[in-house]
Amino acid sequence: MSKANLPILPISVVGSHGRPGWLYIFREATANRELGSIDVEEVGDDAVRLAILDQEEAGIDVISDGEMRRTAGYYRGYMDRIVNLPFSKKPPLRQVGPFHYDFVRFREVVGPISAPEGLGIVDEFKYLKAHTEKPVKATCAGPLNFARECIINSTYKTAFDLAYDFAKIINAELKGLAAAGADFIQVDEPSYVHLREEPAEMAKLFNATVEGVAAKVALHICFGTHAGRPRMSRRTYRQLFPRILDAKADQFVLEFANRQMSEIELWKEFAVGRELGAGVIDVKAYEVETPEDVAERIRTALKYVPPERLWINPDCGMGNTPRWICVEKLKAMVEGTRIVRRELGYKE
Ligand SMILES: [Zn+2]
Repeated sequence: MSKANLPILPISVVGSHGRPGWLYIFREATANRELGSIDVEEVGDDAVRLAILDQEEAGIDVISDGEMRRTAGYYRGYMDRIVNLPFSKKPPLRQVGPFHYDFVRFREVVGPISAPEGLGIVDEFKYLKAHTEKPVKATCAGPLNFARECIINSTYKTAFDLAYDFAKIINAELKGLAAAGADFIQVDEPSYVHLREEPAEMAKLFNATVEGVAAKVALHICFGTHAGRPRMSRRTYRQLFPRILDAKADQFVLEFANRQMSEIELWKEFAVGRELGAGVIDVKAYEVETPEDVAERIRTALKYVPPERLWINPDCGMGNTPRWICVEKLKAMVEGTRIVRRELGYKE
Protein backbone atom coordinates (compact mmCIF):
# COMPACT_ATOMS: atom_id res chain seq x y z
CA MET A 1 0.00 0.00 0.00
CA SER A 2 1.41 3.37 -1.00
CA LYS A 3 1.97 5.78 1.84
CA ALA A 4 1.88 8.68 -0.60
CA ASN A 5 -1.80 9.46 -0.16
CA LEU A 6 -2.03 8.74 3.55
CA PRO A 7 -1.53 11.27 6.35
CA ILE A 8 0.89 10.61 9.19
CA LEU A 9 -0.66 8.27 11.82
CA PRO A 10 -3.05 6.66 9.30
CA ILE A 11 -6.39 5.69 10.84
CA SER A 12 -7.96 2.33 10.07
CA VAL A 13 -10.34 -0.20 11.59
CA VAL A 14 -9.78 -3.83 12.56
CA GLY A 15 -12.66 -5.12 10.43
CA SER A 16 -16.22 -5.44 11.66
CA HIS A 17 -18.52 -2.44 12.07
CA GLY A 18 -21.57 -1.92 14.31
CA ARG A 19 -24.59 -3.43 12.59
CA PRO A 20 -27.73 -1.40 11.96
CA GLY A 21 -30.88 -2.32 13.93
CA TRP A 22 -32.79 -3.31 10.81
CA LEU A 23 -30.22 -6.01 10.05
CA TYR A 24 -31.07 -7.76 13.34
CA ILE A 25 -34.80 -7.39 12.62
CA PHE A 26 -34.33 -8.74 9.10
CA ARG A 27 -32.56 -11.81 10.41
CA GLU A 28 -35.16 -12.47 13.07
CA ALA A 29 -37.99 -11.99 10.60
CA THR A 30 -36.45 -14.38 8.07
CA ALA A 31 -35.06 -16.96 10.50
CA ASN A 32 -37.58 -19.62 9.46
CA ARG A 33 -37.54 -18.82 5.77
CA GLU A 34 -35.26 -20.06 3.04
CA LEU A 35 -33.73 -16.95 1.48
CA GLY A 36 -32.85 -16.62 -2.18
CA SER A 37 -29.42 -15.48 -3.35
CA ILE A 38 -30.83 -12.06 -4.30
CA ASP A 39 -32.30 -11.61 -0.79
CA VAL A 40 -28.93 -12.35 0.77
CA GLU A 41 -27.00 -10.19 -1.68
CA GLU A 42 -29.32 -7.22 -1.43
CA VAL A 43 -29.33 -7.07 2.36
CA GLY A 44 -25.55 -7.54 2.41
CA ASP A 45 -24.99 -4.80 -0.18
CA ASP A 46 -27.18 -2.35 1.75
CA ALA A 47 -25.41 -3.08 5.03
CA VAL A 48 -21.95 -2.72 3.47
CA ARG A 49 -22.91 0.61 1.88
CA LEU A 50 -23.92 1.89 5.32
CA ALA A 51 -20.69 0.68 6.90
CA ILE A 52 -18.71 2.44 4.15
CA LEU A 53 -20.67 5.65 4.67
CA ASP A 54 -20.26 5.57 8.47
CA GLN A 55 -16.50 5.13 8.16
CA GLU A 56 -16.15 7.77 5.45
CA GLU A 57 -18.18 10.29 7.43
CA ALA A 58 -16.16 9.59 10.58
CA GLY A 59 -12.96 10.34 8.62
CA ILE A 60 -11.31 6.89 8.68
CA ASP A 61 -8.38 6.83 6.22
CA VAL A 62 -8.34 3.12 5.35
CA ILE A 63 -11.76 1.49 5.58
CA SER A 64 -13.15 -2.05 5.52
CA ASP A 65 -16.52 -3.38 4.36
CA GLY A 66 -17.50 -3.65 8.03
CA GLU A 67 -17.61 -7.45 7.54
CA MET A 68 -21.36 -6.91 7.29
CA ARG A 69 -21.96 -10.11 5.32
CA ARG A 70 -20.29 -12.25 8.00
CA THR A 71 -23.48 -13.03 9.85
CA ALA A 72 -21.94 -15.90 11.83
CA GLY A 73 -19.03 -13.78 13.08
CA TYR A 74 -15.72 -13.04 11.44
CA TYR A 75 -14.91 -16.59 10.33
CA ARG A 76 -17.52 -19.22 11.27
CA GLY A 77 -19.64 -18.73 8.14
CA TYR A 78 -16.68 -19.63 5.93
CA MET A 79 -16.59 -23.11 7.48
CA ASP A 80 -19.73 -23.85 5.38
CA ARG A 81 -17.61 -23.53 2.23
CA ILE A 82 -15.09 -26.10 3.35
CA VAL A 83 -15.39 -29.74 2.30
CA ASN A 84 -15.29 -32.47 5.00
CA LEU A 85 -16.14 -30.09 7.83
CA PRO A 86 -19.75 -30.64 9.00
CA PHE A 87 -21.09 -29.43 12.35
CA SER A 88 -20.27 -31.85 15.13
CA LYS A 89 -23.16 -33.94 16.45
CA LYS A 90 -21.84 -33.09 19.89
CA PRO A 91 -23.87 -30.14 21.19
CA PRO A 92 -22.17 -26.97 22.42
CA LEU A 93 -21.17 -27.02 26.09
CA ARG A 94 -24.05 -24.71 26.99
CA GLN A 95 -27.07 -23.15 25.29
CA VAL A 96 -28.91 -21.62 28.24
CA GLY A 97 -28.02 -18.37 29.98
CA PRO A 98 -25.77 -15.50 28.93
CA PHE A 99 -24.21 -15.83 25.48
CA HIS A 100 -20.54 -16.71 25.95
CA TYR A 101 -17.62 -18.62 24.44
CA ASP A 102 -19.16 -21.95 25.52
CA PHE A 103 -22.11 -21.43 23.14
CA VAL A 104 -20.06 -22.35 20.08
CA ARG A 105 -20.88 -25.52 18.16
CA PHE A 106 -17.67 -27.17 16.97
CA ARG A 107 -17.04 -28.63 13.53
CA GLU A 108 -15.94 -32.18 12.95
CA VAL A 109 -13.19 -33.02 10.48
CA VAL A 110 -14.30 -36.08 8.50
CA GLY A 111 -11.56 -36.12 5.84
CA PRO A 112 -8.98 -33.88 4.14
CA ILE A 113 -10.31 -30.32 4.03
CA SER A 114 -10.46 -28.07 0.96
CA ALA A 115 -12.49 -25.15 -0.37
CA PRO A 116 -13.05 -25.83 -4.09
CA GLU A 117 -14.88 -22.55 -4.60
CA GLY A 118 -12.80 -20.46 -2.21
CA LEU A 119 -14.05 -18.64 0.87
CA GLY A 120 -15.91 -15.85 -0.95
CA ILE A 121 -13.87 -13.03 0.59
CA VAL A 122 -12.63 -11.97 -2.85
CA ASP A 123 -16.20 -11.17 -3.94
CA GLU A 124 -16.80 -9.26 -0.68
CA PHE A 125 -13.67 -7.25 -1.40
CA LYS A 126 -14.63 -6.48 -5.00
CA TYR A 127 -17.90 -4.95 -3.80
CA LEU A 128 -16.08 -2.77 -1.27
CA LYS A 129 -13.51 -1.63 -3.83
CA ALA A 130 -16.24 -0.70 -6.32
CA HIS A 131 -18.15 1.39 -3.76
CA THR A 132 -15.54 3.69 -2.24
CA GLU A 133 -12.76 6.00 -3.38
CA LYS A 134 -10.96 5.48 -0.04
CA PRO A 135 -8.00 3.15 0.48
CA VAL A 136 -9.30 -0.17 1.81
CA LYS A 137 -8.24 -3.08 3.96
CA ALA A 138 -9.29 -6.69 3.36
CA THR A 139 -9.52 -9.07 6.33
CA CYS A 140 -9.43 -12.85 6.73
CA ALA A 141 -9.24 -15.09 9.77
CA GLY A 142 -6.04 -17.08 10.17
CA PRO A 143 -5.66 -20.86 10.05
CA LEU A 144 -5.20 -21.55 13.76
CA ASN A 145 -8.38 -19.66 14.47
CA PHE A 146 -10.33 -22.03 12.22
CA ALA A 147 -8.53 -25.14 13.42
CA ARG A 148 -9.15 -24.60 17.12
CA GLU A 149 -12.91 -25.05 16.61
CA CYS A 150 -12.59 -28.38 14.89
CA ILE A 151 -12.68 -31.87 16.36
CA ILE A 152 -9.90 -33.76 14.61
CA ASN A 153 -10.23 -37.33 13.29
CA SER A 154 -7.50 -39.62 11.99
CA THR A 155 -6.83 -37.44 8.91
CA TYR A 156 -4.86 -35.00 11.05
CA LYS A 157 -2.75 -35.62 14.13
CA THR A 158 -2.83 -32.18 15.73
CA ALA A 159 -4.57 -28.81 15.43
CA PHE A 160 -1.38 -27.57 13.74
CA ASP A 161 -1.51 -30.30 11.04
CA LEU A 162 -5.07 -29.24 10.32
CA ALA A 163 -4.13 -25.55 10.48
CA TYR A 164 -1.59 -26.05 7.67
CA ASP A 165 -4.40 -27.25 5.39
CA PHE A 166 -6.47 -24.22 6.41
CA ALA A 167 -3.39 -22.13 5.59
CA LYS A 168 -3.45 -23.51 2.00
CA ILE A 169 -7.11 -22.51 1.63
CA ILE A 170 -6.49 -19.05 3.09
CA ASN A 171 -3.34 -18.55 1.02
CA ALA A 172 -5.34 -19.12 -2.17
CA GLU A 173 -7.95 -16.62 -0.96
CA LEU A 174 -5.31 -13.99 -0.12
CA LYS A 175 -3.71 -14.42 -3.54
CA GLY A 176 -7.17 -13.93 -5.05
CA LEU A 177 -7.58 -10.76 -3.00
CA ALA A 178 -4.23 -9.40 -4.18
CA ALA A 179 -5.16 -10.22 -7.78
CA ALA A 180 -8.44 -8.31 -7.27
CA GLY A 181 -6.48 -5.23 -6.21
CA ALA A 182 -6.21 -5.62 -2.42
CA ASP A 183 -2.95 -3.94 -1.44
CA PHE A 184 -3.50 -4.22 2.33
CA ILE A 185 -4.65 -7.49 3.86
CA GLN A 186 -5.05 -8.33 7.55
CA VAL A 187 -4.96 -11.86 8.95
CA ASP A 188 -6.80 -12.27 12.27
CA GLU A 189 -5.28 -14.73 14.73
CA PRO A 190 -6.55 -14.20 18.28
CA SER A 191 -5.71 -17.87 18.83
CA TYR A 192 -2.03 -16.94 19.10
CA VAL A 193 -2.66 -15.73 22.64
CA HIS A 194 -5.45 -18.18 23.47
CA LEU A 195 -3.64 -21.38 22.61
CA ARG A 196 -0.21 -20.56 23.97
CA GLU A 197 1.61 -22.65 21.38
CA GLU A 198 5.26 -21.99 20.56
CA PRO A 199 5.44 -18.46 19.05
CA ALA A 200 8.06 -19.66 16.53
CA GLU A 201 5.61 -22.32 15.29
CA MET A 202 2.84 -19.74 14.99
CA ALA A 203 5.13 -17.44 13.00
CA LYS A 204 5.99 -20.35 10.67
CA LEU A 205 2.29 -21.06 10.14
CA PHE A 206 1.61 -17.38 9.45
CA ASN A 207 4.40 -17.31 6.87
CA ALA A 208 2.90 -20.32 5.09
CA THR A 209 -0.45 -18.48 5.09
CA VAL A 210 0.90 -15.34 3.42
CA GLU A 211 3.55 -17.00 1.22
CA GLY A 212 3.64 -15.32 -2.22
CA VAL A 213 0.84 -12.84 -1.42
CA ALA A 214 1.71 -9.61 -3.23
CA ALA A 215 0.23 -7.09 -0.76
CA LYS A 216 1.07 -5.35 2.47
CA VAL A 217 0.13 -7.83 5.21
CA ALA A 218 -0.98 -7.14 8.77
CA LEU A 219 -1.35 -9.62 11.63
CA HIS A 220 -4.10 -8.91 14.18
CA ILE A 221 -3.73 -10.63 17.54
CA CYS A 222 -6.24 -9.86 20.27
CA PHE A 223 -7.75 -11.36 23.39
CA GLY A 224 -11.17 -12.00 21.84
CA THR A 225 -14.35 -9.94 21.68
CA HIS A 226 -16.98 -12.67 21.34
CA ALA A 227 -20.31 -11.13 22.44
CA GLY A 228 -18.24 -8.13 23.54
CA ARG A 229 -16.27 -10.14 26.09
CA PRO A 230 -12.57 -11.00 26.14
CA ARG A 231 -11.66 -14.68 26.27
CA MET A 232 -8.57 -14.14 28.37
CA SER A 233 -8.28 -12.80 31.88
CA ARG A 234 -4.46 -12.57 31.75
CA ARG A 235 -4.13 -10.33 28.76
CA THR A 236 -0.46 -10.18 27.77
CA TYR A 237 1.48 -10.39 24.51
CA ARG A 238 4.83 -10.73 26.24
CA GLN A 239 5.19 -14.49 25.79
CA LEU A 240 4.96 -14.03 22.01
CA PHE A 241 8.06 -11.83 21.88
CA PRO A 242 10.55 -11.87 20.29
CA ARG A 243 9.85 -15.01 18.23
CA ILE A 244 6.54 -13.72 16.83
CA LEU A 245 8.65 -11.21 14.91
CA ASP A 246 9.67 -14.11 12.66
CA ALA A 247 6.18 -13.67 11.17
CA LYS A 248 6.57 -11.84 7.86
CA ALA A 249 3.92 -9.27 8.76
CA ASP A 250 4.48 -5.67 7.65
CA GLN A 251 2.22 -4.52 10.47
CA PHE A 252 1.05 -5.91 13.82
CA VAL A 253 -2.45 -4.82 14.89
CA LEU A 254 -2.72 -5.18 18.67
CA GLU A 255 -5.04 -4.37 21.54
CA PHE A 256 -3.85 -1.66 23.93
CA ALA A 257 -6.74 0.64 24.96
CA ASN A 258 -8.46 -2.14 26.91
CA ARG A 259 -5.23 -2.65 28.88
CA GLN A 260 -4.38 0.99 29.62
CA MET A 261 -1.63 0.85 26.94
CA SER A 262 0.18 -1.87 28.88
CA GLU A 263 3.11 -3.50 26.98
CA ILE A 264 3.37 -0.80 24.35
CA GLU A 265 7.02 -0.69 25.49
CA LEU A 266 7.53 -4.07 23.74
CA TRP A 267 7.98 -1.98 20.59
CA LYS A 268 11.09 -0.36 22.02
CA GLU A 269 12.33 -3.30 24.06
CA PHE A 270 12.57 -5.56 21.02
CA ALA A 271 13.46 -2.76 18.61
CA VAL A 272 10.58 -3.76 16.37
CA GLY A 273 11.24 -2.44 12.88
CA ARG A 274 7.70 -3.17 11.79
CA GLU A 275 4.57 -0.99 11.80
CA LEU A 276 2.24 -1.12 14.76
CA GLY A 277 -1.50 -0.67 14.37
CA ALA A 278 -2.17 0.35 17.97
CA GLY A 279 -5.61 -0.12 19.48
CA VAL A 280 -6.59 3.21 21.04
CA ILE A 281 -10.35 2.57 21.29
CA ASP A 282 -11.67 0.09 23.85
CA VAL A 283 -14.33 -1.73 21.85
CA LYS A 284 -15.46 -3.71 24.92
CA ALA A 285 -16.25 -0.58 26.94
CA TYR A 286 -19.69 1.05 26.73
CA GLU A 287 -18.32 4.50 27.47
CA VAL A 288 -17.21 6.47 24.44
CA GLU A 289 -13.67 7.81 24.69
CA THR A 290 -13.15 11.55 24.34
CA PRO A 291 -10.79 12.78 21.61
CA GLU A 292 -8.40 13.79 24.43
CA ASP A 293 -8.46 10.20 25.83
CA VAL A 294 -7.47 8.98 22.37
CA ALA A 295 -4.78 11.66 21.98
CA GLU A 296 -3.29 10.67 25.34
CA ARG A 297 -3.10 7.01 24.29
CA ILE A 298 -1.42 7.96 21.01
CA ARG A 299 1.10 10.16 22.85
CA THR A 300 1.93 7.17 25.05
CA ALA A 301 2.42 4.98 21.97
CA LEU A 302 4.68 7.60 20.40
CA LYS A 303 7.11 7.24 23.30
CA TYR A 304 7.88 3.75 22.00
CA VAL A 305 6.96 3.73 18.32
CA PRO A 306 8.24 6.28 15.76
CA PRO A 307 5.33 8.19 14.15
CA GLU A 308 6.14 6.88 10.67
CA ARG A 309 5.56 3.32 11.91
CA LEU A 310 2.40 3.98 13.93
CA TRP A 311 -1.13 3.34 12.67
CA ILE A 312 -4.24 4.12 14.67
CA ASN A 313 -6.95 1.47 15.20
CA PRO A 314 -9.64 0.37 17.59
CA ASP A 315 -8.54 -2.62 19.74
CA CYS A 316 -10.59 -5.11 17.74
CA GLY A 317 -13.56 -5.39 15.39
CA MET A 318 -16.72 -3.54 16.42
CA GLY A 319 -19.34 -6.07 15.31
CA ASN A 320 -20.30 -6.56 18.96
CA THR A 321 -20.60 -2.83 19.59
CA PRO A 322 -23.95 -1.06 19.18
CA ARG A 323 -23.76 0.90 15.95
CA TRP A 324 -24.28 4.36 17.47
CA ILE A 325 -21.49 3.76 19.99
CA CYS A 326 -19.28 2.36 17.23
CA VAL A 327 -19.80 5.53 15.17
CA GLU A 328 -19.14 7.82 18.16
CA LYS A 329 -15.98 5.89 19.00
CA LEU A 330 -14.74 6.12 15.40
CA LYS A 331 -15.30 9.87 15.43
CA ALA A 332 -13.41 10.22 18.74
CA MET A 333 -10.56 8.14 17.29
CA VAL A 334 -10.32 10.48 14.29
CA GLU A 335 -10.56 13.68 16.38
CA GLY A 336 -8.01 12.40 18.89
CA THR A 337 -5.59 11.47 16.10
CA ARG A 338 -5.99 14.90 14.55
CA ILE A 339 -5.00 16.53 17.86
CA VAL A 340 -1.73 14.57 17.87
CA ARG A 341 -1.12 15.17 14.17
CA ARG A 342 -1.32 18.92 14.86
CA GLU A 343 1.12 18.51 17.76
CA LEU A 344 3.50 16.79 15.36
CA GLY A 345 3.21 19.78 13.02
CA TYR A 346 1.24 17.88 10.39
CA LYS A 347 -1.23 19.97 8.43
CA GLU A 348 -4.44 18.15 7.39
ZN1 LIG B 1 -9.69 -8.84 17.56
